[in-house]
Amino acid sequence: MSFPLKKYFMKSLFLSLFLVLGTIAFAAPKNSPVAINGKLRVIGTQLSNTDGQPVVLRGASLGWHNLWPRFYNKSAVKWLATDWKCSVVRAAMGLEIEDNYRENPEFAMQCMTPVIEAAIKNGIYVIIDFHAHKKYTAEAKKFFTQMATKYGMYPNVIYEIWNEPDYFEWAEVKAYSEELIKTIRAIDPDNIILVGNPHWDQDLHLVAADPILNATNIMYTMHFYAATHEKWLRDRTDAAIAQGIPVFVSECGGSEASGDGRLGTKEWHEYVAWMESRKISWAAWSVSDKNETCSMLLPRASAKGNWTNDLLKPWGRLVRETLVELNK
Ligand code: MG
Repeated sequence: MSFPLKKYFMKSLFLSLFLVLGTIAFAAPKNSPVAINGKLRVIGTQLSNTDGQPVVLRGASLGWHNLWPRFYNKSAVKWLATDWKCSVVRAAMGLEIEDNYRENPEFAMQCMTPVIEAAIKNGIYVIIDFHAHKKYTAEAKKFFTQMATKYGMYPNVIYEIWNEPDYFEWAEVKAYSEELIKTIRAIDPDNIILVGNPHWDQDLHLVAADPILNATNIMYTMHFYAATHEKWLRDRTDAAIAQGIPVFVSECGGSEASGDGRLGTKEWHEYVAWMESRKISWAAWSVSDKNETCSMLLPRASAKGNWTNDLLKPWGRLVRETLVELNK
């Protein structure tokens, strides 16, 4: 064969080899949520799978990485995927409280990396959550540039760019979100991006009145704590969905809004029934061991999973039961 043809042949061979190896490296375990659903996209208001069919992700959120770093490991994620049947886990990278990402980015990465990589390995989705209540635009742009570069080719990854803006106007949250969407989309054209909104992600009526335009595969977050937040929040969310706003419940609890107080088992079931009927995805807060209602584990629970029922606090048992029933 002539030299140019040989060169072409070798190039094709290397390219094929690269693609085959790439496919093997990215292949999710058989029958795992990612093997079944693949790359996610938003169709209308509905989170959908690679075939355009509706998909509902249900799972758990880890607590702040800087408060509960011990659960940021591969074994805990594997346990959540296999025993709890989580189809999504959320890694909550803290931007506030001592030893946060701004003060200690190396430690934050040491926590986030094994969680993201274990989610990929176990074929579940992972929310990379910039767990901030205040605004840190420069830090967020730097962080998501790294994340999109490193993980944007994996179907597993969902970016949550601002956990809960507390006392900001929607105009300010919107401007921040547009900037972050632009940053991520310059690198990763397609993975889902979750956008926050004022008052701990409960002001979806403001979003519906003035949504972000010209962006694909974005969803807006809604957070609820069932013992405090009553039907008004579901009604407000329903109204936003009716106006074309895609919603993802990236954090929720059965406790009161403080994270503590009463566990509203009945109210939790009402919220779950509502999310099921709307095909809304959710992650429950949180895999942590504080002496508070919304922590799912006892302090003596191992960092690495193998949690028997006696190591789960009442909320942990309720979440696990709900997941095992619905994610079967
Ligand atoms: Mg991508």
